[in-house]
Amino acid sequence: MHRLLIADRRPPGASVMAITEPARAVPFDEVAAAGPADLDAAVAAARTAFPDWARLTAVARAEVLFRFADLVRAHADELATLEARNVGKPIGDARWEAGHVADTLRYYAGAADKFFGQTIAVKKGGLDVTLHDPLGVVGLIVPWNFPMVIATWKLAPALACGNTVVLKPASLTPLTALRLGELGLEAGLPPGVLNIVPGPGASIGAALAAHPDVAKIGFTGETATGRAIMAAAAATIKRVGLELGGKSPNIIFADVDIEPVAREAVASVFANAGQDCCARSRVIVERRIADQFVEAMAAAAQALIVGDPLDERTQMGPLVSASQRERAETYVAIGRAEGARLVCGGERLAGDGFFLRPAVFTDARPRMRIVDEEIFGPVVVVLTFESEEQAIALANDTMYGLSGSLWTNDLKRGLRVARAVRTGVLSVNSSSSVHLQAPFGGYKQSGLGRELGMYAMEHYSEVKNIYFETE
Ligand code: NAD
Repeated sequence: MHRLLIADRRPPGASVMAITEPARAVPFDEVAAAGPADLDAAVAAARTAFPDWARLTAVARAEVLFRFADLVRAHADELATLEARNVGKPIGDARWEAGHVADTLRYYAGAADKFFGQTIAVKKGGLDVTLHDPLGVVGLIVPWNFPMVIATWKLAPALACGNTVVLKPASLTPLTALRLGELGLEAGLPPGVLNIVPGPGASIGAALAAHPDVAKIGFTGETATGRAIMAAAAATIKRVGLELGGKSPNIIFADVDIEPVAREAVASVFANAGQDCCARSRVIVERRIADQFVEAMAAAAQALIVGDPLDERTQMGPLVSASQRERAETYVAIGRAEGARLVCGGERLAGDGFFLRPAVFTDARPRMRIVDEEIFGPVVVVLTFESEEQAIALANDTMYGLSGSLWTNDLKRGLRVARAVRTGVLSVNSSSSVHLQAPFGGYKQSGLGRELGMYAMEHYSEVKNIYFETE
């Protein structure tokens, strides 16, 4: 059993959670689950470690983070295999993610001594300067779809700024978080700077969000959970950073090359078995190419290799759990009942494991639940438009605003539409959402604040203004 990590201690927690391998539908490991006393101990350890870590020079903190990055790179295969087995994601994707974790640590190690304040010309004649202060103890609560990546997007800038961290991974996928905590200690993080406490969201996550000694919660997960965290944080005016759900549009104009763009559309929604907050799950295609486009999408979806995540050829693994597959199947049934047409997919693979073939729906329209709600599984809906205005209106007809793409060879139209779509991230002629050096986050109910790039540093620090009278 893997124990909690609090300072340099390994307490056994209050209970034991079985960890399942979704490709085989069997438990393959056990992890301790924190109880309320463990959480208090983790926050206390982070609080004790804070003053010394915050007082270190940024250069000294950077040195530890560079070593941390090197250790992650040295253990990339181990981390990738753990993530592939525990989440069910293809090993090639997991390997990329482990490399991205090392890159993220390296980026924020490099950022630590390049994030500083200003000298400001104020009306009085003295000297006015700003400093960036760390917040204190930050609580990080992360989901199961990209466990080590999303944890690192938060802990790397938080540590670089001089904060100390209590990280609560998702109960389904705590293994890589614990391993990262061990590697952090090995790299030279002082005990208590990074604490890892797996445990149930409803009790341990909620207690972390409400804890009076925690200055900020960095959260990624469902919009409904984000609301609960914001409410819990209100009591102590805790800072919150929220990365929430999405229903991202993928707008296709008729001037594109249909086959390659249809293949991209399929890849961008079915990656990670559709369990991706940036999944382009609403394809919005110009009507005169719609039939051809859907046909090409269906062919690409059916050609995806769905299977064992540890097989190098696999392009799509299982869903993370039995209940996540049932959720996706329920939406397939809802879509049919609502009158949308299922072109392909939606059926299980024979054998064990939580596999589901990628499903493509057409004849969909707003106010159908499969169009409005985040499914978080391998299901895509296709809507059609006649005019540019209609495409923009459809793209924006959602409570979400995380990500999206648009495809056209008309440069002016690309610029017009990119500016009109209300999402925090948008790609033109690309399905990428994440660039480590650039901001990532949502408009509307997809979130609050930004991660990645130097923006993340702002969100893990306070700005202090000091005025020196010189007269
Ligand atoms: P979730 O909200 O159920 O859980 C996320 C984390 O919050 C877990 O660690 C969970 O234990 C914890 N939690 C649950 N209830 C809590 C509570 N009341 N108080 C505090 N913590 C609590 O989300 P999930 O099912 O793990 O992940 C899927 C969701 O995450 C999707 O909606 C997806 O869009 C979203 N997501 C968003 C992004 C983004 O960057 N915007 C990235 C990945 C996933």
